[in-house]
Amino acid sequence: MRINPKKCVACGNCTYVCPMGAIYIDPVMKRATIDRDECVECYTCFNGLSQEHLPPTLVRTVRTVFAALRIRFEPEPDVCPTAAFEPDELVWPRVVRRAFSDPRVPHESTGVEGRGTEEVKTNDVTGRVGPGDVGFTIELGRPGIGVRFYEIQEMCRALAAAGVAFEVKNPITSLMSDVATGTIRDDILGEKVLSAIVEIKVPVARAEEIVHLVWDVEQRLDTVVSIGAGVRCDERGQDTVVAPILERLGYRLERAKTNMGLGRRGEAVPVPEREMVST
Ligand code: SF4
Ligand code: SF4
Repeated sequence: MRINPKKCVACGNCTYVCPMGAIYIDPVMKRATIDRDECVECYTCFNGLSQEHLPPTLVRTVRTVFAALRIRFEPEPDVCPTAAFEPDELVWPRVVRRAFSDPRVPHESTGVEGRGTEEVKTNDVTGRVGPGDVGFTIELGRPGIGVRFYEIQEMCRALAAAGVAFEVKNPITSLMSDVATGTIRDDILGEKVLSAIVEIKVPVARAEEIVHLVWDVEQRLDTVVSIGAGVRCDERGQDTVVAPILERLGYRLERAKTNMGLGRRGEAVPVPEREMVST
């Protein structure tokens, strides 16, 4: 993302919407500027602000005259008055920033928008997590801090060294040059994204070990890590196997997302004749 300095009138509206705090008013240029290294190409500035097309010279003149009269003239807070944002044509490797940071862009490897994986949310259809398994989603980064791929790699390498298998249909797995060691391809290691999810599955007996491993690696990372655990409920809709382990580790558990099991794995859904379309 770039801001055209010829158009920007330094109103400052965009500095509040950037989730990475990457936009600042340059005190020398007196224009809004984007820190390219911190920008994760989430497009929040471009899509989140209404773009008006007022002539920059007119807006600057009015603001200067009003300021001299000690009257504030500011555009509405959700507007870039001069449509100064100009998205770059993103090329590899920078394009991975947008794939992980703009929730409306689907990942090439999985076709899923956002962080690019359905995790356990569609388990009734995918069957990723079976009875006796725990599906862990290890999310690195958050708005405000983000994460670089070399930090994600550090987590992946530690998990691989512990003999953990990565979910195949996950964008981070697809970006590994060596899945057996959790090594991510060299050319993207310095790229920064808003957040990314590493996805694994282990037997319940290894749940505590994995949580400790994630805690240990987190100490070495300059970002935040969130752990999600997906499990099968029993016939009463309860989890009495993994929940006690997590509670013993200090987590206060809340039921977050419940898959109702309305999908059916491997069963073709017949299409009623009237809905069939001939081509
Ligand atoms: S909202 Fe537009 S005009 Fe205002 S500071 Fe940002 S880029 Fe410049
Ligand atoms: S694209 Fe996102 S991270 Fe980059 S400047 Fe705009 S809001 Fe900030």
